[in-house]
Amino acid sequence: MNPPARSLAEVVSCLSGYDPDAVPVADAQRIIADFITPIDCIEQLALRSALGRVLARDIISPIDVPSHDNSAMDGYALRSADLGSADLGDAAVTLTVAGTAYAGRAHAGSVAPGQCVRIMTGAVMPPECDTVIPQEFTLHTTQLHITVPAGAVRSGDNRRFRGEDLSVGQAALCKGRILRPADLGLLASLGIAEVPVQRRLRVAFFSTGDELRSIGQSLDEGCVYDSNRYILHGMLTRLGCDLIDMGVVKDDPDSLEAALRHACENADAIITSGGVSVGAADYTRDIMARLGDVSFWKIGMRPGRPMAFGQISSNGQGAFLFGLPGNPVAVMVTFYFFARQALLHMMGADASAPPLMRARSTEAIRKKPGRTEYQRGILSTDSDGCQQVRITGAQGSGILRSMVEANCMVVLHDAQGSVAAGDLVDVMLFDGLT
Ligand code: AMP
Ligand code: MG
Repeated sequence: MNPPARSLAEVVSCLSGYDPDAVPVADAQRIIADFITPIDCIEQLALRSALGRVLARDIISPIDVPSHDNSAMDGYALRSADLGSADLGDAAVTLTVAGTAYAGRAHAGSVAPGQCVRIMTGAVMPPECDTVIPQEFTLHTTQLHITVPAGAVRSGDNRRFRGEDLSVGQAALCKGRILRPADLGLLASLGIAEVPVQRRLRVAFFSTGDELRSIGQSLDEGCVYDSNRYILHGMLTRLGCDLIDMGVVKDDPDSLEAALRHACENADAIITSGGVSVGAADYTRDIMARLGDVSFWKIGMRPGRPMAFGQISSNGQGAFLFGLPGNPVAVMVTFYFFARQALLHMMGADASAPPLMRARSTEAIRKKPGRTEYQRGILSTDSDGCQQVRITGAQGSGILRSMVEANCMVVLHDAQGSVAAGDLVDVMLFDGLT
């Protein structure tokens, strides 16, 4: 992994009024983006295996797609000059059918004036023809003749041009793209069997807390099952990372130091949950400070106020560190709004922020200006077809059910005050097409 170009102190010196105990969301996002450096290691993969991977180089089209002018419809290819004056034709015209063009089997002969060719979708256009009339627009069709009604087609209709999808030498896909099914299809249409992609990002993660129990263990008094392990597993898997799942690490300095060292010797990034809130943070802070360059923040947001971010190293191996809060909802919010973007950036992906859309709030929401709030919401369509959102019940940062019931996050920005019923708010949807 490339070391950061600058120390955190140098990065934050660009921000006015930086105070680690009151960092606005946008500042934290900017510091992370400025500090992170992408990995640079390319591997060549067969098309099918490249789904979801980050393209490492621009792909230049080696051919024209399509490689010939061809028909967009089943119908008859004709010479528009035969249709009479102007493009539209001023009277019905009868043409003689000179033959048939199938997809993959062109019409063999030439097409004289007054003739046309029966043609299938995708078949090569006879060079003399410039227009296709769909079969259903023709009248009095026999094996030998068709009648084209006046004004039924315009010159050039239903003809696909050579290279109209992509022309040779044009950039078909750009570096940094996360490959989707359509991209695989496009690459296949160019005859490309393998593509260069960035290697997968290796991410180590563990949960901290003496109260955590793993599934299968008995739940002693005052203990909880470790749900963050599974949440992080899910979110990181969806991002396409290689995972090093380190389970639960006890709240003691030696265990924590050993876990952090192991993680940074084996991964590009480390995600921990728990142990960064006040009270818990003292020795965590000491260890992390000893191992590298880490800031402990109180971010102006709810949920997810405490967070640690930086870079640590052990035996010459470095990794970026995201110390997320312990509460499961806070883990998800800080992951989606800070870590996700940074990990995508590390992967070399074009990492635009998750898109926000506007929806009408069905009810009033109390909110103090001066911090960003992420409320769990249910987006639906009202009777007029407009988007509306309602907040899911209790919003405590430990109430994972609020996340399960939600299909989106309502983002109430820093400066915003309380929301009245009917106001427009920003929402981020959890699901898109996958
Ligand atoms: P902490 O940040 O360590 O003070 O944890 C805050 C809260 O989150 C505590 O109630 C923890 O029990 C809870 N918590 C921390 N880690 C986990 C986890 N992995 N799974 C479920 N709850 C957790
Ligand atoms: Mg804890």
